[in-house]
Amino acid sequence: MKPLHTHTPLLMSHGTLRPDGGLALLKMDALQPSGSFKMRGVGHLCQLAAAEGAAAIIVPSGGNAGIAAAIAGGKLGMPVYVVVPTSTSDEAKALLKTYGADVEVRGASFDDAAAYAKARADDLKAVFVHPFDDERLWAGHASLIDEVVADGESFDCIITSVGGGGLLLGLLDGLKRNGLEDVPVFSIETVGADSLSQSVDEDHPVTLDAITSVASSLGARRVADAAFEAVKQGRVTCLTVTDRQAVDASAKFLDDHRVLVEPACGAALASLNVHADQFAPYQRPLVVVCGGAGISSARLEALLSQVRS
Ligand SMILES: *Cc1c(COP(=O)(O)O)cnc(C)c1O
Repeated sequence: MKPLHTHTPLLMSHGTLRPDGGLALLKMDALQPSGSFKMRGVGHLCQLAAAEGAAAIIVPSGGNAGIAAAIAGGKLGMPVYVVVPTSTSDEAKALLKTYGADVEVRGASFDDAAAYAKARADDLKAVFVHPFDDERLWAGHASLIDEVVADGESFDCIITSVGGGGLLLGLLDGLKRNGLEDVPVFSIETVGADSLSQSVDEDHPVTLDAITSVASSLGARRVADAAFEAVKQGRVTCLTVTDRQAVDASAKFLDDHRVLVEPACGAALASLNVHADQFAPYQRPLVVVCGGAGISSARLEALLSQVRS
């Protein structure tokens, strides 16, 4: 079965991402059909479910997982129901509808929307797509590593943003199935959405009271248990950046590479400068440019003035 995601370009950046002008390998998942890497895992999961006879797709998400599901449903000829909490912006809902999704508003929080979506799945004979906590999703995200290996490019560490940890777990899967489990991984969160870093500090999974970061795609109050367990095994280093650093990095990336990404992605890009000491030993860091559709030139301007005030 042909995958629903795209084999994305790998760019060599000798620009301003690193203070010394050093090389960074950019895996351009901002160029997926849905604007983010979510196309990989969500597409894979939906294809599996379609083959097993699912009649529809239901996903709790106000963002990139919903868009990926809408595109997958369109390609597979399955109706897509996106359940969003009341906090979801009108813009996000409108965007989901342009991709053909049926949008239903339920619950005050993501957790409420997710519980409702899960309960509805049986009635609709739908596959329930969790935005980050499902091993079939991780298996799809793992294709990102397969592609870099197929392109014949080597890398000596990986830098990725972390929300609920689905992308991180997929990358770890991908490293494993390519015999690269020794490659160090750096997970980047913004302060205020740092549920993984806090869990590591406290040595147990932490549930944040609230998400206070503007990087909404990183806003999982609690990470997948598997992500916490994986980090405990010692191959993942957890780092944070501020909202301002993440948004500034998105602006800088737009100038350097002419691609607009969410602050959720800016976080990973910022880390090369913010934590330059950590990355000094690495000649070929692979940065996952995870992308995100929840950004526009106007939104970037607004975020810039918000974080700089
Ligand atoms: C979902 C998402 C993330 C976080 O991925 P997780 O699997 O939740 O860790 C980061 N950036 C973007 C743009 C996303 O859509």
